[in-house]
Amino acid sequence: PPLFSPHNNHHPNASTHHKPVRWSPMASSAAAHRRLRRRAKVVVIMGATGCGKSRLSIDLASLFPSEVINSDKMQVYQGLDITTNKITPAERLGVPHHLLGSYDPDDGEMTPSQFRSLGHAAISGVASRGNLPLLVGGSNSFIHALLVERFDPETDVFGGLGSPASPELRYDCCFLWVDVSLPVLEDYLSKRVDDMLGIGMFEELAHYYDPGRTDPGGRTGLRRAIGVPEFDRYFKKYPPRGVGQRDAWRQEEGKEGDDDRMREGAYEEAVREIKENTRQLAKRQIGKILRLRGCGWEMRRLDATEAFGLATAGEGGGRWREVWEGQVVGPSAKFVKRFLQE
Ligand code: ATP
Repeated sequence: PPLFSPHNNHHPNASTHHKPVRWSPMASSAAAHRRLRRRAKVVVIMGATGCGKSRLSIDLASLFPSEVINSDKMQVYQGLDITTNKITPAERLGVPHHLLGSYDPDDGEMTPSQFRSLGHAAISGVASRGNLPLLVGGSNSFIHALLVERFDPETDVFGGLGSPASPELRYDCCFLWVDVSLPVLEDYLSKRVDDMLGIGMFEELAHYYDPGRTDPGGRTGLRRAIGVPEFDRYFKKYPPRGVGQRDAWRQEEGKEGDDDRMREGAYEEAVREIKENTRQLAKRQIGKILRLRGCGWEMRRLDATEAFGLATAGEGGGRWREVWEGQVVGPSAKFVKRFLQE
């Protein structure tokens, strides 16, 4: 089953093994004063694309009053909600989300420096409401830009040999790294692409496609999202003709001719490229996480491999959810509880 489905949106705080902990914002004025002087506490949920970061954030938000700040560089933009895999409003279960689809792609590309200042404002806002900021998303360059004590936009910590990232952070951070072994994650990602196509990714991209669009600086911002370049090549050959094109083409032409077979082949090729590029993205993201860990970012690793194996195998609701709660949510909740008490 997909990690989010109408059937598994119930919350683990009803279960026996983790008790909800209220994070009391202002217990006394002396405590309030101490808290003001202290650095804000931030829980950072890291991990490759598709490994369940959003799922975990909503699970944790049911245990600790929290708000989510998105750190996926494609999901900050308005539009392409399916293609960029944004958590839907229904899946958010009322948990406030920030920097998610709030940035107009026509305003240009969001830079790491901009993300640093917008993210800081969001964290301050969440903390001032007495809630726990959960930073959730797979863009490690954005996470790095936001969290380090001193940020130098000129230094590319992940490029080439790379300068080491700084272990000095401007918040008190608890890093949760959701990890899934690569072969299991790859199977899941391939299936996820098919699921995304099933819920309208092709139609979304057809609608977004604009043959007249010029992009002097090369592909920037949302136009770099996986799915856009791959299907742009397809749409150049087979321009979209309105909603539900693929079925319409078939019906119009009645039988499978050479044209249809070529179109089908081009479609399959785009899907194959999307799957391959998603796989490469996941590998690069894991490499960057390991690099940050190597620089002294202390990470708590949660192994979600078994839960994902069950989800990909189509293990209906109960079993994978049980494993996910036991191996990912439960240990994460313990880490966060301890972190908040420190
Ligand atoms: P880089 O330095 O390569 O930009 P990064 O850590 O800053 O890496 P990533 O989140 O790894 O950022 O994104 C790199 C690329 O992966 C994006 O430019 C985009 O092509 C693709 N990508 C990332 N997130 C998504 C997403 N949610 N949907 C579609 N494509 C994505």
